[in-house]
Amino acid sequence: LCERVGFIGLGNMGSRMADNLFKAGYSVVVHDINHDVMKAFSDKGFLTKNSPLGVAEESDTVITMLPSSAHVMDVYMGPEGILNHGDQVRSRLFIDSSTIDPQTSRKVSAAVAATILNGGSAMLDAPVSGGIISAENGTLTFMVGGSEEAYRSARPLFLSMGKNVIYCGGPGTGSAAKICNNLAMAVSMLGVSEAFSLGQSLGIGAATLTEIFNSSSARCWSSDTYNPVPGVMEGVPASRNYDGGFATKLMAKDLNLAAISANEVGARSPMTSSAQKIFTELCDRGFETKDFSCVFRHYFHGKDE
Ligand code: NAD
Repeated sequence: LCERVGFIGLGNMGSRMADNLFKAGYSVVVHDINHDVMKAFSDKGFLTKNSPLGVAEESDTVITMLPSSAHVMDVYMGPEGILNHGDQVRSRLFIDSSTIDPQTSRKVSAAVAATILNGGSAMLDAPVSGGIISAENGTLTFMVGGSEEAYRSARPLFLSMGKNVIYCGGPGTGSAAKICNNLAMAVSMLGVSEAFSLGQSLGIGAATLTEIFNSSSARCWSSDTYNPVPGVMEGVPASRNYDGGFATKLMAKDLNLAAISANEVGARSPMTSSAQKIFTELCDRGFETKDFSCVFRHYFHGKDE
């Protein structure tokens, strides 16, 4: 493979994704504002650059994996951002895998199309499902919005970091899919937790109720794969004091994006509002780094705390 891939944002997820691209044989050039991270990548043999523009000058495709919309705007539109000297940019394909709101994805996509003109350019929003372990094992699911042609050309890249790649439609639809998935996951976790808590108060044990849910109509990922009640399932965060897994603060962030998006399009979203309030409260109470299934213990079950 002679294709050179730029990677910006080498945090929990991005560092592992960049490693997998490297292992797949791509030449990878990286940037992060954290100097320790840059040093570690340079020691591993990656080419490092001091700015997003520096990366885009050197690579055919640029992938970003950043904390939030503001960081993505900065990397594209900031003073040393990719679009600031569009004429110097070698890259023609831009992939943003950060979880951000669809409106920002569309804004950046339009700015790329307007700025990087010669030779044609494309932007894909391609957020991921699956956490640090999936990023490490290369088993992420990518949800991709943008032109179908660009999606097809990027499939080999996605498949060296993940195992499922789903095309969602035009710009912003990948981000929309991600937000909707996590909204549904949050609400199902709340529903299961509330039901287990009520069940226990009414005298039915969690193990029995789980058996019933999982062979009845309440069965879902939160009951049969990621059960929030300690001791019911092995290998889930609930059985190791809610350590590891998907942090409550990331769930609160994603629900905030869902709330903003719902507001922008005027969608009714009472469940989003309730879920956002509950997960934000858990963060305020100090559980922001615990797995989000801790809502069972610290919100429903621990009502007397
Ligand atoms: P992280 O905070 O660990 O990493 C972000 C990295 O971006 C950091 O290394 C930071 O230094 C760097 N950065 C910030 N601003 C920058 C800038 N202007 N230029 C260059 N680098 C910059 O975050 P993460 O856990 O890797 O998550 C990244 C994205 O993936 C987020 O949008 C998150 O919501 C999403 N996501 C995370 C998970 C997860 O389980 N952690 C799962 C799915 C999706």
